[in-house]
Amino acid sequence: MAKIRGHVIIKTEECKGCDLCVIECPQDSLEMSKSLNQKGYTFSILSYDTCTGCTNCALVCPEAIITVYREGKKVKATRPISKGQSV
Ligand code: SF4
Ligand code: SF4
Repeated sequence: MAKIRGHVIIKTEECKGCDLCVIECPQDSLEMSKSLNQKGYTFSILSYDTCTGCTNCALVCPEAIITVYREGKKVKATRPISKGQSV
């Protein structure tokens, strides 16, 4: 079965660098930047083409700055998924 393709858009200038989205991503798609945003924080970036659009990152983000797309369509964050669990 083909893997579900997802994508995220992160408002990097509003990121506080808490790292929660990176920790909670079951696909290890995200990582923290090496540089700082204008507020002086490192920020989350989508670095690997492994996102399935599971919405975990959007659910845990305290700043609510992550928008998730699954198969090209915007999706609402609905339920948390543990690492290793498939979507
Ligand atoms: S939607 Fe899911 S797979 Fe994609 S970056 Fe966020 S946590 Fe990772
Ligand atoms: S959870 Fe939100 S605030 Fe925290 S690093 Fe990720 S995008 Fe930034």
